[in-house]
Amino acid sequence: MTWLTTLKQDAPAELPAGLSPSSPGLVIPSQVNGHSSGPNAHGGELREDLQEFLGQDTPLHLLDDLTKVNPVTLETEFAKGTFASVLRCLQARYMADTFYTNAGCTLVALNPFKPVPQLYLPELMKEYHAAPQPQKLKPHIFTVGEQTYRNVKSLIEPVNQSIVVSGESGAGKTWTSRSLMKFYAVVAASPTSWESHKIAERIEQRILNSNPVMEAFGNACTLRNNNSSRFGKFIQLQLNRAQQMTGAAVQTYLLEKTRVACQASSERNFHIFYQICKGASVEERLQWHLPEGATFSWLPNPERTLEEDCFEVTREAMLHLGIDTPTQNNIFKVLAGLLHLGNVRFADSSDEAQPCQLMDDAKCEGKGLYSHTQGANIEDPLLETLQIRTIRAGRQQQVFRKPCSQAECDTRRDCLAKLVYARLFDWLVSVINSSICAEPNSWTTFIGLLDVYGFESFPDNSLEQLCINYANEKLQQHFVAHYLRAQQEEYTVEGLEWSFVNYQDNQTCLDLIEGSPISICSLINELQTRIESALAGSPCLGHNKLSREPSFIVVHYAGPVRYYTAGLVEKNKDPIPPELTRLLQQSQDPLLKVLFPTEEKSQEEPSSQSRTPVLTVVSKFKASLEQLLQVLHGTTPHYIRCIKPNSQGQAQTFLLEEVLSQLEACGLVETIHISAAGFPIRVSHQNFAERYGLLRRLHPHTSPGPYSPFPDEGHSGWSPHAKEAMLQPLLQDILHTLPALTQAATPG
Ligand code: ATP
Ligand code: MG
Repeated sequence: MTWLTTLKQDAPAELPAGLSPSSPGLVIPSQVNGHSSGPNAHGGELREDLQEFLGQDTPLHLLDDLTKVNPVTLETEFAKGTFASVLRCLQARYMADTFYTNAGCTLVALNPFKPVPQLYLPELMKEYHAAPQPQKLKPHIFTVGEQTYRNVKSLIEPVNQSIVVSGESGAGKTWTSRSLMKFYAVVAASPTSWESHKIAERIEQRILNSNPVMEAFGNACTLRNNNSSRFGKFIQLQLNRAQQMTGAAVQTYLLEKTRVACQASSERNFHIFYQICKGASVEERLQWHLPEGATFSWLPNPERTLEEDCFEVTREAMLHLGIDTPTQNNIFKVLAGLLHLGNVRFADSSDEAQPCQLMDDAKCEGKGLYSHTQGANIEDPLLETLQIRTIRAGRQQQVFRKPCSQAECDTRRDCLAKLVYARLFDWLVSVINSSICAEPNSWTTFIGLLDVYGFESFPDNSLEQLCINYANEKLQQHFVAHYLRAQQEEYTVEGLEWSFVNYQDNQTCLDLIEGSPISICSLINELQTRIESALAGSPCLGHNKLSREPSFIVVHYAGPVRYYTAGLVEKNKDPIPPELTRLLQQSQDPLLKVLFPTEEKSQEEPSSQSRTPVLTVVSKFKASLEQLLQVLHGTTPHYIRCIKPNSQGQAQTFLLEEVLSQLEACGLVETIHISAAGFPIRVSHQNFAERYGLLRRLHPHTSPGPYSPFPDEGHSGWSPHAKEAMLQPLLQDILHTLPALTQAATPG
């Protein structure tokens, strides 16, 4: 099998002492073939076998879990030898500092949790780029990068490419996509420099500069990752006919804007807030109204110093993207204003007819300061907007003013902050795009890099997790459809001898979430009872007898997740009081004027005539996901599965149990099995004939062997020079492709 062959080839030098390639776990089928499948198979016998197989040091609770949790899969996989061998093999490689492993059509990337600069040197990038057969070098993300790059160029398949990087939070997705961007900046560098925004520089440098800016505004320190991306990102690297990168376009998905106003304990707000507080000069503090030593309730854990807190890097990158210093000042002033807004606390009003007053002036030092966010002399209107709701009613649309309760005031304050921050983020993305996007006629193909948040399951899951896990389901389905199902169906159609490999198809789960006519998405505006009664028949809807809180469980491909319904409906509507938008539209602040243009109608302007439904969070997200999937379907996808060897972020620590659940979650074992037994390289007859037909005309009676395509040089009537000029590009292909085709034709 390809998998075992790969192991046998490169394992010896890298295995830790005591593990040879023939150690248990590397060559196993013969050792486990005799394994009983009788009634006691999942009990002690299996446990003993497993222990022998995985090693005496395997934690007992893992053995228990293995024997209990998934006995059917386990037994099948165990008997096939893939399940445990993959785990053992990855462990051996990880402990030997080998972080990348090929697994069928995917590359497994283990997070080293320590600096390994030698793995990302430009010289190494060039080595992979120059290699006649990069796949013969050690597995690396650069192999995937180079293969993808060659696919764009190849006449065989001149189509757009995409690299889908997946994995749970902290597994290394952003690191991987960043390294791939650096790889393309080296191998696809454009020879010309750009002259705009008064800075002449190479476009690839500018594209790389988008990373620190987007990470400063969109990443935050969470329990799982100090630099966790709180948004999804698809970056399209645009290439011209000469395969040079001429630009890029970024699309983002669902920024976790609630983080601006609400951070879980031990987590932090977006990095940029800490950067401005730590990095501002004395003059800037004055200018942005950020007094030294001020404390902000929306800035938890400021004492933690992270690598990501480097304000200078963000500013420098912003400058390179054409965001000049005055504009930057405007941005930071607004951010400082948001921090002050977070310090505003309302006291409960005993009289319902009276607005809630500010808690106490000592605590609300921001009271006199946050006004600058809204421009001159607008402090009172801001406060009033938070305190008083205006309602239009009756035929004449009369305006009534109703004081808000304390809780409503808090909600309006948070809503204002989220609204401003989300607009600011979107605006930044559009500025970045206008700075890096190539002219439409200056590029022909693209390589897309997808870095989306991984599957999430917390004790308390809500709409955010539902959307994130929905996105993961969609991507998994893309993988299943593209690879696991399509490949096997094609073998059957082609009449190849093939025994079907079972895999987990998540279509049922997707039907539950997004199907029509009725699904969680369509029902989310209704009550939980409706979800439970109307969807009771779905095998993916879990039941929730024990919890007192209203919730429902979805059995995702990566595991069951309980979603609590409290607040779900409201979050989905994401209502923005029209007064808030109107207030921001009246601001004289130069940045707010751009973010909230007056001509734009406020989202929920209650007009009796227009009854266009307001788009909910879920429906907007669904639409953007569908768009993304459409783009992905138009590309040849490549997959990198990032795996987190332990949740503590420690180097040299490989926790079998944690890795196991990630392997299961991404269907890696099935992938390996199908790839190992299958025919990985396929070219259509027409393309093959077009590409290699010339060889037949040159040598009608010779079938070219893979390594000597011109055995009877000189007999064809072509001059050697003409022959060389015509055949050089073909020769490259033949050297790269034919051996692979020959290998692929002999599976096993
Ligand atoms: P999230 O979903 O939370 O955004 P992620 O999958 O994007 O998580 P990263 O931010 O890429 O995770 O990686 C987490 C951390 O792991 C990085 O900040 C870095 O410290 C470390 N790391 C990841 N990959 C590597 C690598 N190849 N070499 C060294 N360190 C790495
Ligand atoms: Mg990330």
